[in-house]
Amino acid sequence: MRRILIHTCCAHCLGQTLAGLAAEPEAYEPVVFWGNPNIHPLIEWRRRLKAVKMLVERADVPFLADETYGLVDFCRAVHEHEAVPERCTRCYALRLNRAAEVAREAECAAFTSTLVTSRHQDHALIRAAGDAAAQATGIPFLYRDWREAEADANLVKMLYRQQYCGCIFSEYDRFKDTKTHLWPPAAPRPSD
Ligand code: SF4
Repeated sequence: MRRILIHTCCAHCLGQTLAGLAAEPEAYEPVVFWGNPNIHPLIEWRRRLKAVKMLVERADVPFLADETYGLVDFCRAVHEHEAVPERCTRCYALRLNRAAEVAREAECAAFTSTLVTSRHQDHALIRAAGDAAAQATGIPFLYRDWREAEADANLVKMLYRQQYCGCIFSEYDRFKDTKTHLWPPAAPRPSD
Protein backbone atom coordinates (compact mmCIF):
# COMPACT_ATOMS: atom_id res chain seq x y z
CA MET A 1 0.00 0.00 0.00
CA ARG A 2 1.31 3.51 -0.82
CA ARG A 3 2.19 5.71 2.11
CA ILE A 4 0.87 9.24 2.26
CA LEU A 5 2.12 11.90 4.63
CA ILE A 6 -0.62 14.06 6.16
CA HIS A 7 0.55 17.48 7.23
CA THR A 8 -1.61 18.09 10.30
CA CYS A 9 -2.45 21.26 12.19
CA CYS A 10 -5.31 20.07 14.41
CA ALA A 11 -6.95 16.89 15.65
CA HIS A 12 -10.47 17.49 14.33
CA CYS A 13 -9.21 18.32 10.83
CA LEU A 14 -7.05 15.20 10.98
CA GLY A 15 -10.16 13.16 11.75
CA GLN A 16 -11.84 14.60 8.66
CA THR A 17 -8.76 13.95 6.52
CA LEU A 18 -8.56 10.31 7.62
CA ALA A 19 -12.24 9.92 6.72
CA GLY A 20 -11.63 11.51 3.32
CA LEU A 21 -8.66 9.27 2.67
CA ALA A 22 -10.60 6.17 3.66
CA ALA A 23 -13.14 6.98 0.94
CA GLU A 24 -10.47 7.34 -1.78
CA PRO A 25 -10.55 4.74 -4.55
CA GLU A 26 -6.83 4.17 -4.00
CA ALA A 27 -5.88 2.77 -0.58
CA TYR A 28 -3.22 4.80 1.23
CA GLU A 29 -1.33 4.10 4.42
CA PRO A 30 -1.35 7.38 6.37
CA VAL A 31 1.68 8.85 8.15
CA VAL A 32 0.80 11.88 10.25
CA PHE A 33 3.20 14.82 10.39
CA TRP A 34 3.07 17.76 12.80
CA GLY A 35 5.02 20.87 11.75
CA ASN A 36 3.31 24.19 12.43
CA PRO A 37 5.47 27.24 13.15
CA ASN A 38 2.34 29.33 12.58
CA ILE A 39 0.51 28.33 15.77
CA HIS A 40 0.78 30.80 18.65
CA PRO A 41 1.04 31.36 21.51
CA LEU A 42 3.00 28.48 23.02
CA ILE A 43 0.21 27.05 25.19
CA GLU A 44 -2.15 26.94 22.19
CA TRP A 45 0.55 25.18 20.18
CA ARG A 46 0.93 22.61 22.97
CA ARG A 47 -2.83 22.06 23.26
CA ARG A 48 -3.17 21.33 19.56
CA LEU A 49 -0.12 19.06 19.46
CA LYS A 50 -1.37 17.11 22.46
CA ALA A 51 -4.76 16.58 20.82
CA VAL A 52 -3.10 15.34 17.64
CA LYS A 53 -0.96 12.92 19.66
CA MET A 54 -4.07 11.58 21.37
CA LEU A 55 -5.78 11.04 18.04
CA VAL A 56 -2.85 9.22 16.38
CA GLU A 57 -2.66 6.96 19.42
CA ARG A 58 -6.39 6.17 19.11
CA ALA A 59 -6.14 5.67 15.35
CA ASP A 60 -2.86 3.74 15.68
CA VAL A 61 -1.15 5.55 12.82
CA PRO A 62 2.57 6.41 12.54
CA PHE A 63 3.45 9.90 13.72
CA LEU A 64 6.32 12.24 12.88
CA ALA A 65 6.70 15.63 14.52
CA ASP A 66 8.85 18.71 14.40
CA GLU A 67 8.34 19.83 17.99
CA THR A 68 10.24 23.08 17.61
CA TYR A 69 8.08 26.05 18.54
CA GLY A 70 8.74 28.00 15.34
CA LEU A 71 7.58 31.49 16.19
CA VAL A 72 10.76 33.14 14.85
CA ASP A 73 10.66 31.20 11.56
CA PHE A 74 7.04 32.20 11.08
CA CYS A 75 7.65 35.87 11.85
CA ARG A 76 10.56 35.94 9.40
CA ALA A 77 8.44 34.28 6.71
CA VAL A 78 5.60 36.81 6.93
CA HIS A 79 7.57 39.94 7.82
CA GLU A 80 6.30 42.87 5.73
CA HIS A 81 3.59 40.59 4.30
CA GLU A 82 1.26 40.65 7.30
CA ALA A 83 -1.95 41.28 5.33
CA VAL A 84 -4.14 38.46 4.01
CA PRO A 85 -3.73 36.78 1.53
CA GLU A 86 0.05 37.40 1.36
CA ARG A 87 0.55 36.23 4.94
CA CYS A 88 -1.37 33.00 4.38
CA THR A 89 0.40 32.34 1.06
CA ARG A 90 3.73 32.40 2.88
CA CYS A 91 2.37 30.38 5.77
CA TYR A 92 1.09 27.62 3.49
CA ALA A 93 4.41 27.53 1.64
CA LEU A 94 6.39 27.34 4.89
CA ARG A 95 4.42 24.37 6.13
CA LEU A 96 3.84 22.48 2.90
CA ASN A 97 7.46 22.80 1.74
CA ARG A 98 8.55 21.23 5.01
CA ALA A 99 5.85 18.55 4.77
CA ALA A 100 6.98 17.62 1.24
CA GLU A 101 10.60 17.32 2.42
CA VAL A 102 9.57 15.10 5.32
CA ALA A 103 7.41 13.01 2.98
CA ARG A 104 10.44 12.47 0.76
CA GLU A 105 12.67 11.56 3.73
CA ALA A 106 9.99 9.14 4.99
CA GLU A 107 9.69 7.58 1.52
CA CYS A 108 6.03 8.45 1.14
CA ALA A 109 4.48 8.31 -2.33
CA ALA A 110 2.46 11.51 -1.80
CA PHE A 111 1.56 14.14 0.75
CA THR A 112 -1.55 16.10 1.65
CA SER A 113 -2.69 18.49 4.39
CA THR A 114 -5.52 18.79 6.87
CA LEU A 115 -5.85 22.37 5.61
CA VAL A 116 -8.10 21.06 2.81
CA THR A 117 -10.84 20.22 5.32
CA SER A 118 -11.28 23.83 6.39
CA ARG A 119 -14.11 26.13 5.34
CA HIS A 120 -12.02 29.12 6.45
CA GLN A 121 -8.91 28.49 4.38
CA ASP A 122 -8.17 29.58 0.83
CA HIS A 123 -8.20 26.31 -1.11
CA ALA A 124 -6.77 27.78 -4.31
CA LEU A 125 -3.75 29.07 -2.41
CA ILE A 126 -3.31 25.78 -0.53
CA ARG A 127 -3.38 23.88 -3.78
CA ALA A 128 -0.86 26.22 -5.41
CA ALA A 129 1.49 25.93 -2.40
CA GLY A 130 1.14 22.14 -2.36
CA ASP A 131 1.82 21.87 -6.09
CA ALA A 132 4.89 24.13 -5.80
CA ALA A 133 6.24 21.99 -2.95
CA ALA A 134 5.54 18.88 -5.02
CA GLN A 135 7.47 20.29 -7.94
CA ALA A 136 10.44 21.14 -5.72
CA THR A 137 10.63 17.70 -4.10
CA GLY A 138 9.17 15.31 -6.67
CA ILE A 139 6.52 14.13 -4.15
CA PRO A 140 2.99 14.62 -5.52
CA PHE A 141 0.54 16.72 -3.51
CA LEU A 142 -2.89 15.10 -3.13
CA TYR A 143 -5.46 17.87 -3.17
CA ARG A 144 -9.03 16.97 -2.30
CA ASP A 145 -11.89 19.15 -1.14
CA TRP A 146 -12.68 17.40 2.14
CA ARG A 147 -14.69 20.24 3.68
CA GLU A 148 -17.71 17.91 3.91
CA ALA A 149 -15.84 14.87 5.22
CA GLU A 150 -16.99 13.72 8.65
CA ALA A 151 -14.51 12.58 11.24
CA ASP A 152 -15.11 9.34 13.12
CA ALA A 153 -16.73 10.63 16.32
CA ASN A 154 -14.85 8.10 18.44
CA LEU A 155 -11.52 9.36 17.17
CA VAL A 156 -12.12 13.02 17.95
CA LYS A 157 -14.28 12.65 21.06
CA MET A 158 -13.35 15.16 23.80
CA LEU A 159 -10.30 16.39 21.90
CA TYR A 160 -9.36 20.07 21.99
CA ARG A 161 -10.86 22.16 19.18
CA GLN A 162 -9.21 25.49 18.47
CA GLN A 163 -11.11 28.74 17.99
CA TYR A 164 -8.86 30.48 15.49
CA CYS A 165 -6.61 29.59 12.58
CA GLY A 166 -3.26 29.67 14.33
CA CYS A 167 -1.09 32.78 14.11
CA ILE A 168 -1.32 35.67 16.51
CA PHE A 169 -2.84 37.78 13.73
CA SER A 170 -5.67 35.31 13.29
CA GLU A 171 -6.25 35.22 17.04
CA TYR A 172 -6.70 38.99 16.98
CA ASP A 173 -9.07 38.79 14.00
CA ARG A 174 -11.12 36.13 15.79
CA PHE A 175 -11.55 37.95 19.10
CA LYS A 176 -11.19 41.65 18.41
CA ASP A 177 -14.94 42.23 18.12
CA THR A 178 -15.84 40.11 21.16
CA LYS A 179 -15.80 40.78 24.87
CA THR A 180 -14.09 37.48 25.61
CA HIS A 181 -12.09 37.72 28.86
CA LEU A 182 -13.00 41.35 29.42
CA TRP A 183 -14.19 42.50 32.81
CA PRO A 184 -17.58 44.24 32.68
CA PRO A 185 -17.26 48.05 32.79
CA ALA A 186 -16.89 49.32 36.36
CA ALA A 187 -20.09 50.67 37.90
CA PRO A 188 -19.93 54.46 38.45
CA ARG A 189 -19.01 55.40 42.05
CA PRO A 190 -21.52 57.50 44.01
CA SER A 191 -19.14 60.49 43.97
CA ASP A 192 -18.78 60.40 40.15
S1 SF4 B 1 -4.39 33.06 9.28
FE1 SF4 B 1 -3.86 30.88 9.36
S2 SF4 B 1 -3.10 30.38 7.29
FE2 SF4 B 1 -3.08 32.62 7.51
S3 SF4 B 1 -1.02 33.11 8.24
FE3 SF4 B 1 -2.29 32.89 10.07
S4 SF4 B 1 -2.06 30.74 10.66
FE4 SF4 B 1 -1.32 30.90 8.56
